Amino acid sequence: MSAATCPSCHATLTSADSGEPWCPACEWGLDDPVGHEVTGAGWIDRLLYRSAFRLNRVQFGRFAGRAIGRPGYGAAGVFLVAVSVVLLGGELALLALAGWLAYAHLSLLTAPLILLILGVVWVLLPRFPGLPDEFTPLDRSQAPTLFALVERVAAASGTPAPHFLGVDTAFNAYATPVGLRRRRAVCLGLPLWAALPPEQRVALLGHKLGHFANGDPRVGLLTFPALNTFQNLADLTRMGPPELWGCFAAVVDLVARPVMWVISRSLLLVHVAMTLVGARQSQRAEYHADELAVLVAGSSATRGLADSLASRDGLEVVVRRAARTGHDARDWRRAAEEARASMAPRVPRFRQLSIRTDTSVLASHPPAGLRARLVESRPWQEARVGLSEYESDRIDSELAEYYRRNAREIGWVEH
Ligand SMILES: [Zn+2]
Ligand SMILES: [Zn+2]
Repeated sequence: MSAATCPSCHATLTSADSGEPWCPACEWGLDDPVGHEVTGAGWIDRLLYRSAFRLNRVQFGRFAGRAIGRPGYGAAGVFLVAVSVVLLGGELALLALAGWLAYAHLSLLTAPLILLILGVVWVLLPRFPGLPDEFTPLDRSQAPTLFALVERVAAASGTPAPHFLGVDTAFNAYATPVGLRRRRAVCLGLPLWAALPPEQRVALLGHKLGHFANGDPRVGLLTFPALNTFQNLADLTRMGPPELWGCFAAVVDLVARPVMWVISRSLLLVHVAMTLVGARQSQRAEYHADELAVLVAGSSATRGLADSLASRDGLEVVVRRAARTGHDARDWRRAAEEARASMAPRVPRFRQLSIRTDTSVLASHPPAGLRARLVESRPWQEARVGLSEYESDRIDSELAEYYRRNAREIGWVEH
């Protein structure tokens, strides 16, 4: 057997710049871990990678060719809610204990204990993040065409419109609930937005707004504590480099570091386990968000968006390069179009490679290649919401100030 031949079907193997080769015919070898660290323990990370890879395959097999629909809560959802209730119940019990100690047994001995209990409750308290610092909110008066488009997409897909619409400089876009009131925010990364043709912009909005109606456990208020508390605790117990110097500090560090390492990694493992429990549901929710994108933007645009994401590295490079020479988004878009055309013959490879590179227990989305194939596996649909080149350009004019202000950062950022 030659090294360049598939051991399973004898087709000629292919490979990317880095990483092991794979078989383009039967996809043998795509489960080779890309080496991103989750726990830091090699064998556990490989195990987690393999389970994520299997989960992707199984979920794709389940949904290919079928209507997905909004997922219900399911056993996983019930479990996550139960964990959240236990966490919140534990916090309330601790709070009651502190209150009782303070009321009935306050003394010099119990005072530090009360403070310790209050400290633990404070650490365990679920924190509902607000808008990220990088999120630059947009006003309707600044971007009327964009706001009108978002509303058309929301109406066509039956999803609620966001409370906040904003931009940042990432080659990405996201939809997230904000704060305890879970208000809806959608953020469009300027370089990604600039790289997309009009119909894919509609598909992107369709998918992102779909996040507010797709039953994703990562969004729910009642599943939030289970899916976030353990990660927060793992972060809190992770020790940075030693800050104090001297003999005593060194001894303390020597003893504390291994203990804290074990505690932090164990908490991270619990977090990964919670994520895995929710992962089936989350993947279903993601595929359903794509289903909603198909409903508004049509199959062709939604598949195109997934393919843009599968070949995102190539697109990102040219958009950032274009941003270094100017801040006119139309030039960025032109550069992206040229790159898309030249990469078109390699799209099947990019889709396959994404099955390896987009796989992680902590990945927010199923691999782009599987998303494109899932769209292809289902009955073809036409777009309900159109966006003309003219309107698309007008949105770019409305955002011109933001492109201009951020061109430097977009052009020079490491990626
Ligand atoms: Zn093969
Ligand atoms: Zn999504």
